[in-house]
Order: sequence, then C-alpha cells, then structure tokens
Amino acid sequence: MKYEEMRAMEQTHVCAVCEGSLVTVWDPDLSIHALVCGKDRSHQGYQRIPSVSQLVARGQGYKLGGPHTQESLEDLAKRGVGKVSLMVVDDLATNKPLEAPQLTSLITWGVNLGLKPWLGHVCIYFGKPYISIDGYYYKNNERERPFAISTRPMNDQERKDYKLGEDDHGYIAEGRDRDGVVVANGTGIATKDEIEGKSKRDPEQFRAPVVHGHPQRMAEKRAEWQLLRKLIPLEEQE
Ligand SMILES: [Zn+2]
Repeated sequence: MKYEEMRAMEQTHVCAVCEGSLVTVWDPDLSIHALVCGKDRSHQGYQRIPSVSQLVARGQGYKLGGPHTQESLEDLAKRGVGKVSLMVVDDLATNKPLEAPQLTSLITWGVNLGLKPWLGHVCIYFGKPYISIDGYYYKNNERERPFAISTRPMNDQERKDYKLGEDDHGYIAEGRDRDGVVVANGTGIATKDEIEGKSKRDPEQFRAPVVHGHPQRMAEKRAEWQLLRKLIPLEEQE
C-alpha cells in the first residue's frame, strides 16, 4: 500500500480486530511504512467504519448506545417509521426506482432466505436480485464466532497479477477466524472502461453511474461481497 493510501485509510477504516484507530508507522526492520492498529500492532486487518444505518442493518445497533436495542431499531425499520427504513427501493446500478411487483418479489425472495429486506438485506442490481453486503454481515454477526472481515487496496504484486492498469481500482477482502488465520478472501476490481463507459441507450449518461461516482468504494465493496458469499453460502438456499 502506498503511504498516501495508508494516511487516507486512517480516516475511513479502523482495526478489524478491536475497532481501534489505525496509525501509519515506519517499520525500521523492513524500511517501509505500515498501517497498524494504534492499540496492538499484532492485530491484523482493516475495516471500513460503518455508518449508523449500516450498524443497524448488520445487527449491531447495540453499538449505538442510547435507549434503542437492535430489536427496537429493527421494529422501527420494519414499520417504516419516520425515515427509519433501510429498504432498497432503487436499482443500485442505475438508480431507477423499482416497480411495485419487482419490489414485492424482492421482499418475498429475501424473507425466504431468512433475511430482513426492511434492513436493506436484499437489493436489485441491473434488474437482478442480490443479497447485499449488509445482509451477509447480518448473517455473519448471527454466527457464534463471526469472521473478522477486512479490506485493503491491492499491493503492487497483486495489481500486476490481476493485470490492472494505472487507472483501474483493485481491492482485497480477507476473512479471518478467531485465531486471526485468513480462511477466505475476495477480490474486487473497478476498471477504467467501466468507470468511464457511457450508456448505449443514452450516450449522455454513464453506463454505471454508481461505479463512475465512487470507483474505489465499488472495488472495495465487490471484494467484500465476493468474500462474504464464500464465507456465508446463503445462495445455496435459493
Ligand atoms: Zn486493534
């Protein structure tokens, strides 16, 4: 990872083991900078700091403190009280609103998989239903021993292995067991073509506006999603 990438990740990520702040330090033995946990340098992995709604969607609303429990927050979301609904109502790729029948079948599909659509556990991407990252995180957090999920930009060797161009984004996600051993990983790529590609139907528009707007985050999400699919094989129930 480049020094600038490490400094940037201090702001957006925390330690995947203890959720402590990250710091960039100079490793005199290896003569390189390293991004490490500020509490314990033996901790492995970086996790993007979840938003308030992501904590609820992932079954960790208890971390918010205050009067609400995870159950009460889920209840609010289910009843759609105020703005507390995390239901996905647009196609995530095109930002187009879903039609009522599509939404209804998405909800049924999600519930049959043991997921909670009102927490954003299922989504539509280019017209097809998928389990969202938050849906997989929710299932992971239900496990007796959840996997620690971490993400990082690809290093130079990995970028070479995946034949990435200078303007392509590449991320690696790693899933560790309780002992800190990597049990699975995922890769995520957003290519320059995809970032800059224009819609065939409407050349004024980008083909994938979300990828265009946040290519780095998209690559990271794809790596997380691929990893979570390996760790939590929900699709077998489809
Ligand atoms: Zn830590």
